[in-house]
Amino acid sequence: MNDGAMIEASGLTKRYAGHPAIDDLSFTVARGEIVGILGPNGAGKSTTLRILAGYLPATSGFARVAGFDVFSQSLEVRRRIGYMPENNPLHLDLRVREYLLFRARLKGLGGRRMRERIDCVLEQCDLADVRHSMIGQLSLGYRQRIGLADALVHEPELIILDEPTLGLDPNQIRAVRQLIKDLGGYHTVLISTHILPEAEMTCQRVLILHEGRILAADSPENLQQHVGSRGQVTAEIAAPAAALREFLEGLDGVAHFNVAPLDGEFLRCALTPLPGLDLRPALFAAVRDRGWTLRELTRSRPTLEDIFVHMTRDIQEEEAG
Ligand code: ADP
Ligand code: MG
Repeated sequence: MNDGAMIEASGLTKRYAGHPAIDDLSFTVARGEIVGILGPNGAGKSTTLRILAGYLPATSGFARVAGFDVFSQSLEVRRRIGYMPENNPLHLDLRVREYLLFRARLKGLGGRRMRERIDCVLEQCDLADVRHSMIGQLSLGYRQRIGLADALVHEPELIILDEPTLGLDPNQIRAVRQLIKDLGGYHTVLISTHILPEAEMTCQRVLILHEGRILAADSPENLQQHVGSRGQVTAEIAAPAAALREFLEGLDGVAHFNVAPLDGEFLRCALTPLPGLDLRPALFAAVRDRGWTLRELTRSRPTLEDIFVHMTRDIQEEEAG
């Protein structure tokens, strides 16, 4: 049965010497979706992706890609997948274009279409200038993008990228994230990352993996909302201190606040909102209405660590009670 899902995983488990690297993972990815697997080192991201790409058998459970079983029908699966493993082994003694020709032929491309596709991915991955360079002489950032070009060359339905921005400089990271976004809709994309902002910026949905288990699967916005109560608001306001305190004491939705003097007339306000509230609009309106001066108004965003702390606490509370 394949009711439109590109990936369907059920009860996937992989044990190494009895220790589970992933433990009973079940999830689906719809066609055209960009999904991120987010988790710290050792969470089981690479193990999951290797199984889905047909390179590693699961200990138990099953997974299908485009309706094909990843293990018993791995040829059908691999034809539909562009997979960039972590620490992608490349042929260091080949030139970039030569390598992509070699890879494209392996994937069944040939003739004019193959040359067109190679020109296209060289351009897409910003490799055109080094097409004739030896891979062994290029930096990690280039090698990462060669792996990406390899994953894209046969225009696969499903693209699986294991930590695609690892080792890239900030400009390259931005370019690769944009490229991933552009792939969505037309392709289905599954990426792994240990960086929360990366998942937020590129993915429509995120699976949070922790010690081999899925803690949560939701949109980045909803995950942030879930831990939103931790999002402190900081404001730097020039105002009479007593009036400012009085205003903050009367402001709805404040769980806790602190005011400290800064330079000149400026005061630094740190506010902890009640769960799910954003205090910034009310603060801004107050400053405007009273003729005060505002020079900073920010809400700290939860980090990956905040999300883990929050979710593992939820789980412990559930288990306890
Ligand atoms: P991630 O990609 O999230 O960093 P991995 O999937 O690489 O996580 O690893 C998950 C867990 O499985 C880790 O505890 C790791 O040490 C273990 N593991 C991964 N590959 C092997 C292997 N070939 N042999 C033994 N243990 C492994
Ligand atoms: Mg990994």
